[in-house]
Amino acid sequence: MLFNRTTLLWGAAFALLFLSNTLSAQAPKADPLLSIYRETAPKINDLVHTKLDVCFDYKKCYLYGKEWVTLKPHAYATDSLRLDAKGMDIKNISIFRAGKNYPLKFTYDSLTLAISLDKKYTPAESYTIYISYTSKPNELKTQGSAAINDAKGLYFINPDGADATKPIEVWTQGETESSSAWFPTIDKPNQKTTSEISMTVQSKYVTLSNGRLASQKPNPDGTRTDTWKMDLPHSPYLFMMAVGDFKIYKDTWHSKEVSYYLEPKYAPYAKDIFGFTPEVMDFYSKILGIEYPWNKYSQIVVRDYVSGAMENTTATLHGQQVQATRHELVDGKPESETDIVHELFHQWFGDYVTAESWSNLTVNESFADLSETLWAEHKHGADAGDEVNYQAMQQYLRSPAAKTKTLVRFYYHDKEDVFDVVTYQKGGRVLNMLRHFLGDAVFYKGLNIYLKQNAFKNGEAEQLRLAFEEASGLDLNWYFNQWYYSPGHPELKISYKWDAASSTQTVYLQQTQAGSPFILPMFVDVYAGGKKERHQIWMRDRADTLSFKVATKPDLVNVDGDKILLAQKTDAKTLDQYVFQYFNAPLYVDRIEAINAAIAQPNEDGAQKILLAALGDKYFNLRIRAINAINLSTPKMHDAALPVLTHIIKTDEKTLVRAAAINALVKLNDAANLPLFKEAINSPSYAVQGAALNGIAALDVPDALKLAKGLEVDNSGTLTTAMVKLYMANGSDAEFPFISTSFANAPVQQKFSMVGSYAKLLEKLTQPKNVKTGVTQLRDMAIRYKNFGTIPFILPMLDRIEGLTQEQVKIATGAQKAELNDLAQYIEGLVSELKKKQQA
Ligand SMILES: [Zn+2]
Repeated sequence: MLFNRTTLLWGAAFALLFLSNTLSAQAPKADPLLSIYRETAPKINDLVHTKLDVCFDYKKCYLYGKEWVTLKPHAYATDSLRLDAKGMDIKNISIFRAGKNYPLKFTYDSLTLAISLDKKYTPAESYTIYISYTSKPNELKTQGSAAINDAKGLYFINPDGADATKPIEVWTQGETESSSAWFPTIDKPNQKTTSEISMTVQSKYVTLSNGRLASQKPNPDGTRTDTWKMDLPHSPYLFMMAVGDFKIYKDTWHSKEVSYYLEPKYAPYAKDIFGFTPEVMDFYSKILGIEYPWNKYSQIVVRDYVSGAMENTTATLHGQQVQATRHELVDGKPESETDIVHELFHQWFGDYVTAESWSNLTVNESFADLSETLWAEHKHGADAGDEVNYQAMQQYLRSPAAKTKTLVRFYYHDKEDVFDVVTYQKGGRVLNMLRHFLGDAVFYKGLNIYLKQNAFKNGEAEQLRLAFEEASGLDLNWYFNQWYYSPGHPELKISYKWDAASSTQTVYLQQTQAGSPFILPMFVDVYAGGKKERHQIWMRDRADTLSFKVATKPDLVNVDGDKILLAQKTDAKTLDQYVFQYFNAPLYVDRIEAINAAIAQPNEDGAQKILLAALGDKYFNLRIRAINAINLSTPKMHDAALPVLTHIIKTDEKTLVRAAAINALVKLNDAANLPLFKEAINSPSYAVQGAALNGIAALDVPDALKLAKGLEVDNSGTLTTAMVKLYMANGSDAEFPFISTSFANAPVQQKFSMVGSYAKLLEKLTQPKNVKTGVTQLRDMAIRYKNFGTIPFILPMLDRIEGLTQEQVKIATGAQKAELNDLAQYIEGLVSELKKKQQA
């Protein structure tokens, strides 16, 4: 599963902004749930085969299901069976024997079915139970988590078609244990079953599920029944269904179907969005030495998805964030590429071999996270791979609470909590370090052993360790003990001393974190006299002193030369050493460390040297970082950087770099740049157009407004943001429809950044109907994101608009007075509604 990055990141930032006072005031309370050891679910009965026959009631949002589930006792004979079934109506349970159904006794507490079998079965005997049931997902009491917003299992989107802007869809989300909200099962990851799912739907709809489409039968009533068969066993949480108006694009890989299901509007871009999927299947199959293990691979994009994406076996489901038109893809969409490769790696790590319990989720998610680094490195080069690794590492290091949690986690408040920055970002880095330590060939050999030994079964970190030990011939207890079973990471202090008299370079290393010291193998690179000498060291104690005999004073000592350690480093390097590092050390991280050092002390000569050089860095995101950091207000930097930036605007191969350079010039407010901006407004890149519009708006508002009008038919991303910004500051009722629609369609993060200016604009409007639309949007937003503290944030805005409307009522006459009065009362209603919700 993949987080919905935008919502979560913004949610967290917003919560911090508005709730930090209340949060810090609360004393930490002991959580009794944290003292429960979360054992792996015992296997009394094993699932063998699950056959479902379902249809949907769009009015009630119900699923009517018939299920034939085949099981057998695991190790001991038993005469009873427990199945998970969340909030269902159970009509009938019987055992299916020799073509006939015999009713069985059962009890049901709305979560678990306790069924008495007709006799005692031995592990050598399998039996099939028939269940007829109704699933009622919208009547379930469910709890959200960081990774998914709720846990209904089955979702009806716009079921009555009331929202004209939204398609009608049905789809499912099983992880963690929500599949049992739509069919009774043993809803644990250590169960595996083959499956056959028949869905009866209106004939205008397309369906998708696990495995192959075995048959499509039209029914006399105008519906159609599609049957999907999955002949290889997989866990219940990986079951999926989707129904809706999707267009299918079919590709192949090694004669297997590879397909993409999209809303008709995005169907023409299926290949642009997903077309590299076969190439990724190729890459993963090669490095793992195991060909893609399933009979097909489909990807579908649905509305209002509750997380980022989900790796259902052979049928990955993505949220809308991966959708893009060809025009939008001009600027690249690295986040969707990441989503796509992450979910695909899960088809091996998660689906083929599955974490035996949520405590061992690391054997699913840490690998999917690592795959993002592996793909970036393979496809886009070492800098791109290092960037993914470095940024994920920073994300983990920025989360202080994460250092108390272990990767293999037997104690947690809720199973959903294990889907966190430790399991993903830390786990991915721990694997990447191991890859560097063992070398690619041995690391991948270890993965091959792990996958082969546990194919169609479950795995835990212990099996991973044994597989790596077999591949490498090395004992790896030390590595797994410190990284998988102990929390935290090294906090590494690095300092230096040069002694000219004895030609000795000393390096002091100190681990300052609480708890035991980590064992850290690493390289130390000493750059002196135009040469680099590499030393391998093992840090085993809390403090180490390294001494190197060097003929001349080193220009740089680079600890952790491969920049791979998961550690919070405090490095006593001087700015001059960082200058040397930028120009001489080879890696992305070497360069970004130097750029960051320059940003921290921007007025130093050395810093300016680094930043000017980084404007031409070979890696585009480092060019952008330097462009964003450069300060053009000093004459020296202005004169040195300006020609470079102008050149970038005209020639850089990456549109995002061009856009950043334009934005840097915008800050100068110099009319001499106007021709440059006017040329850039015709770029095929939305990012470049957006930056150009910002530039024109800063110098010539009427012209910018005119240009924006022309761009209303085709805009997206930062161009839309620039237009909305311009309109919000200078627009009127004429521009309101565009602003209102853009606000409604904006991703949540953008919405939060717009909301203040939007309220200000509403204060200036003269048409009551526009104000009404706007304040309603603000009210909806306040309620929808209530948990992030939006109500106290938005209430004063509405209050103010109401006050201004009241003022206008006083001076208005006739019909206008009545209309304004209605508006004032309407806003007053919203205000009191929000006040009530705030208190609730
Ligand atoms: Zn995942």
